[in-house]
Amino acid sequence: MNFAPELISLLRGTSKLVALTGAGVSQESGLRTFRDAQTGLWAQYKPEELASPEAFRRDPKLVWDWYAWRREAVKGVRPNPGHYALAEMAKRVPEFILITQNVDGLHHMAGNRKLIELHGNIQRVRCAECYTLTETWGDDTESVPQCLVCGGLLRPDVVWFGEPLPRDQLEAAVEAARTCEVFFSIGTSGVVQPAASLAFAAHNRGAVVVEINAEPTPLTPKANYAFHGKSGEILPKLVTAVWENGR
Ligand SMILES: [Zn+2]
Repeated sequence: MNFAPELISLLRGTSKLVALTGAGVSQESGLRTFRDAQTGLWAQYKPEELASPEAFRRDPKLVWDWYAWRREAVKGVRPNPGHYALAEMAKRVPEFILITQNVDGLHHMAGNRKLIELHGNIQRVRCAECYTLTETWGDDTESVPQCLVCGGLLRPDVVWFGEPLPRDQLEAAVEAARTCEVFFSIGTSGVVQPAASLAFAAHNRGAVVVEINAEPTPLTPKANYAFHGKSGEILPKLVTAVWENGR
């Protein structure tokens, strides 16, 4: 794959780069999307019927069990070359900020530590009442485990339908998008708000926008560079071209 020399020199010289990742990146690791993942026992439920505060109030155990099952599914999944390329970029660019809409924790597993998780992380569990995070809990309990601080029910630390995004994470993401020199939009359809608006905010502020996605999106016409294919193939080649060749 050939990359434009202008893109290569831009990336070599950039000091502030933001990358936003979405479901496409996880799918390349073999993780099914939210909807496709409803198999077996869970096929009778729609994700919307389980991933909401109402569902948790109605039947906390059902929702808890569903997430326990999804955590198990993630255990069998490993980061792909695209995840590792992003971890590599984090080492090369002085200010590199990774924003993800994915809740699977694969970026962390690949070595990205500075991470803005817009939709939370299913590997984390917090109290539904007082928000205290907990490190240990049992998945096989008869009822939903309780918070050691206040006795409230524990729930996954993810954003459910009808819930706002965590304000600190969203503010950090918007600030990063508005002040970066280069913005990568990777494996995201560009239609889920407010994440989709981040690329446009970066573009409006004069950042160079690079899109990597399986197919064109509403962002494609605005992108300075658009690559259609697998991020797990394109990103490692780009990292090699920018930081390993001809240095
Ligand atoms: Zn609590």
